[in-house]
Amino acid sequence: MEAGEAKSKRAGGSRLCCICNKRRPVLKRPKTLQQICRECFYEVFEEEIHQVIVQNRLFKSGERVAIGASGGKDSTVLAYVLSELNRRHNYGLDLFLLSIDEGITGYRDDSLETVKRNEVQYGLPLQIVSYKDLYGWTMDDIVKMIGLKNNCTFCGVFRRQALDRGATLLKVDKLVTGHNADDIAETVLLNILRGDIARLSRCTSITTGEDGPIPRCKPFKYTYEKEIVMYAYFKKLDYFSTECIYSPNAYRGFAREFIKDLERLRPRAILDIIKSGEDFRIATTTKMPEQGTCERCGYISSQKWCKACVLLEGLNRGLPKMGIGRPRGNGNGDNKHTKAGSTAKSIESKQCGSLDF
Ligand code: SF4
Repeated sequence: MEAGEAKSKRAGGSRLCCICNKRRPVLKRPKTLQQICRECFYEVFEEEIHQVIVQNRLFKSGERVAIGASGGKDSTVLAYVLSELNRRHNYGLDLFLLSIDEGITGYRDDSLETVKRNEVQYGLPLQIVSYKDLYGWTMDDIVKMIGLKNNCTFCGVFRRQALDRGATLLKVDKLVTGHNADDIAETVLLNILRGDIARLSRCTSITTGEDGPIPRCKPFKYTYEKEIVMYAYFKKLDYFSTECIYSPNAYRGFAREFIKDLERLRPRAILDIIKSGEDFRIATTTKMPEQGTCERCGYISSQKWCKACVLLEGLNRGLPKMGIGRPRGNGNGDNKHTKAGSTAKSIESKQCGSLDF
């Protein structure tokens, strides 16, 4: 029997919370299947995140930390919980909200309104950086040119860089994102399915990019998505739940459904997939990409040009397929943007909440 399946005690015929044994349970905890009350749920949920932060030494006192904020449930709960824990445990952090405006009418404009309300509700300064300002293109423009096939590739690559650029503007020491346990398990699975050894080796790390401009941390690495939704619901947090209008990624959706099916049969499956990802050992014969800098914009890159510059060049030249697909130079027949000796890596579609860590 799973530890969490312990039965709640009954008193006078009514079941009691199996943690405090005082109050009536209002939920079955998805991670452990324990029947618990609302107060105990808040406590275990927040305490587990605090322990992850402390045990992994995610922060140092005095650091400036940007919270990647989309207005969705994960980042909203992260902003709320991190503010609470920062106060309660005296982390000594200066927290900021950092949002990316991809330029998606009817989706991002609405979700940014949520983040602007969160700015006031949590008293956290907000910085917004837009694709239009950084790249001269909105996602609406890009979709008009390329259609709905590879849009998430452009969006994922541009977002990664945009977050770093926003973090630099805020002069922060770290960037935290709301990637949860389900996202990470899904990423492990996708990286195996794609044979992407480089990403498989780093996708379970709680902190990444320590050799890059801004390290990124995932305090929700072990937090279940269902619990984040419950927490947001019970706390009545103000978040935006509509899906992106350009969200077509069937492959990722399949992996997500598969993990949800596994979770239904065995809740621990999510943590076990993460554990498997952590325990993979990469053979020393596997050639890993060498980290350098983009010759065009100076961003970290294992190629002569970073992915964003290759994609942008394609858009600006009216050749949007440049840099997408299997390595064949840069997709338009020449390979001058690829470092000699390095393998041009294909850029696969990735949906937001993405695996590109
Ligand atoms: Fe961008 Fe996510 Fe929308 Fe894809 S689904 S276009 S990655 S916001």
